[in-house]
Amino acid sequence: MATTLTATNQEYIPQKWEDVACPFCGAQEAHLIEQFGYEHRYRFVKCEGCGLAYMNPRPAYTDGFVETAYEVYTTSVDSFQKGDELTEQGKIVYQEYSSNLKEIEKWVGRKGRLLEIGCNTGFFCKVAGDLGWVPTGIEISQTMAKLAHDTYGFETRAGDWMGMKFEQLFDVIYCSHVIEHIPNPREWMARFKEVLAPGGVVCLSVPNYQSIDRKFKRGLKNLGLRKDRWEKWRTPDHLYEPCEKSILSFFESCGFELLQQYTYPSEWLGDVSLWHNLMHFKLRWGAKARYYLRPAR
Ligand SMILES: [Zn+2]
Repeated sequence: MATTLTATNQEYIPQKWEDVACPFCGAQEAHLIEQFGYEHRYRFVKCEGCGLAYMNPRPAYTDGFVETAYEVYTTSVDSFQKGDELTEQGKIVYQEYSSNLKEIEKWVGRKGRLLEIGCNTGFFCKVAGDLGWVPTGIEISQTMAKLAHDTYGFETRAGDWMGMKFEQLFDVIYCSHVIEHIPNPREWMARFKEVLAPGGVVCLSVPNYQSIDRKFKRGLKNLGLRKDRWEKWRTPDHLYEPCEKSILSFFESCGFELLQQYTYPSEWLGDVSLWHNLMHFKLRWGAKARYYLRPAR
């Protein structure tokens, strides 16, 4: 850890930049909507075609970028579990994941094989295993994949999942706050279809660029009333942040049918008050968005 940018508080300087078209629809036309990051060196533009906010130009998606970007996500297993005991935070997250898994079961109609892409240190897969699912976790970071496997014992694989072969199909693909980090989302959606069992469902969660919180902070920033608290070592690892319009047309063009969508706050345990219903189910103004999808027939 001592040699990382984080530990030494060194500045992250992209070695190479690339100009890209919209990662969702491929359109070239876009206009600047936000500058962000350390010394505002990164730009989000809005696609004229589908409305997606994406970074352009962006640091080339090289091994060096990925390594630096993911280093900060190496969360410790200890934050959820110490020995055999769940921590206080672990208990809350356990409930959150249990509630999410109940909802998934409702859509799939059974418990079966679950593939989590971007499983971090494995806590979601652990909860899934406890509740009777058979989890497989994929993690780009070798360190986190090993930690997940050594702690919880389920099948984990490290690396880029696009080239991996699987013996069996999966009833669920679970991908939470991962897809906005990758440059080739269309290829991922196509691969989801290949590894899903008949009747299988994708549960995909992403940040919501149109959330009321994001809009408010952007407004303050544009008026010069708010600064980015952006550490200089940090990479711009969200390559895009979807709004509802952009992601729904993306799903459709990739051949997926939408089963359910809503937004949700951090540590949401599945309870729906009148306020929650309005804010997250009707208006969908929350900071995070979740989509249940199935390949279109
Ligand atoms: Zn687009």
